[in-house]
Amino acid sequence: MTDQETWTTLRILTWTKEYFGARGIENARLEAEWLLCAATGLDRVGLYLNYDKPLNREELSAFRQMVARRARREPLQHILGSQEFCGLEFAVSPDVLIPRHDTETLVEEALRRAPLARTVLDIGTGSGCIAVSLARRLPGARIVASDISAVALEMARANARANGVDVEFLHGSLLEPVAGRCFDLIVSNPPYIPSADIQLLEPEVRDGDPRLALDGGPDGLDIYRRLIPASLEHLEPGGWLLLEVGMGQAQDVAEMFPLADGYGQVVSSPDPGGIERVVG
Ligand code: GLN
Repeated sequence: MTDQETWTTLRILTWTKEYFGARGIENARLEAEWLLCAATGLDRVGLYLNYDKPLNREELSAFRQMVARRARREPLQHILGSQEFCGLEFAVSPDVLIPRHDTETLVEEALRRAPLARTVLDIGTGSGCIAVSLARRLPGARIVASDISAVALEMARANARANGVDVEFLHGSLLEPVAGRCFDLIVSNPPYIPSADIQLLEPEVRDGDPRLALDGGPDGLDIYRRLIPASLEHLEPGGWLLLEVGMGQAQDVAEMFPLADGYGQVVSSPDPGGIERVVG
C-alpha cells in the first residue's frame, strides 16, 4: 500500500486479500471487506456499489492501521470492537473471551430445556453474551451473572445496557457470589482448554483471548470438577445445569454429575462444527 496509483475500493480489497492470505488469515477477502466497512462507514453493499471510488486520505490511513493490526494476528473483533452472538451485538476487548458461534448451542439448549425458568445464573459471564441473550428471550426471568474478573463484568454490564436488558452482575469466583440462592437454570461456558494445548491454538485465540477464560488446568476439566458439585447445591428442584464442553469432553464431564439425580447427559445435538457441546 505504498505506491502512488489510486487506491480504489476494488484495488485495495484485492491487495489486502493477498496480503492477509500470505499471513495465514483464512477468510482474507471477507475480513478485508469488514475492515474496509469500518474504515469508510459503508456497509458491504456500499463497498460493492463503490468499487471504482478512490478512498480519501482519512479512510486510507484508518484502513492501513487496521490492516497492520490484523496482519499481526490481532483478532478481527478487537479491531472492530464487537462480535455478533445470537443475533445481538456485543462489545469485546482483550479482557473478555470473544463470543463463539458454538456457544449459541448452549443458549439454544437452555431455552429448549428450561423455557419457563424464572431464575437464571450464568457463571463466568465474560462479555455477558449468554446472560444477555437469555435475558432477551426469557422476559420476566431474573438473570444473574457472575465473573471473577471485574473488568469483564464492566464490559458485560455495558453489553446488557446496550441490548436493553436487566442483568444482576456479581463479582466473585464460581458460585461464591450467590451463597444461599437457588436457580431454575444454571449455565456456564467455563475455561476448558488443557493448559499445555493453549500454545497450539491460533494466535488470535492464544494471544487475544484472556488466558483465564481458556485454561482448564492439566486435562482441561479442573473447573468442571469444582463447578458441578457446587452448582447442584444451587439448583431448584427440577432445575437445569447446562455446561458448554470442549471437543471430546462431553462424556467425561457427564460422568461428573451424580447418577442418581438424573443429571449427566450429553444434551446437545452437535454444534455447527459437529462437536457435542452441552452437558446437563
Ligand atoms: N471455545 C473456545 C475455543 O475454542 C474455548 C473457550 C473455553 O475454554 N470455554 O477457543
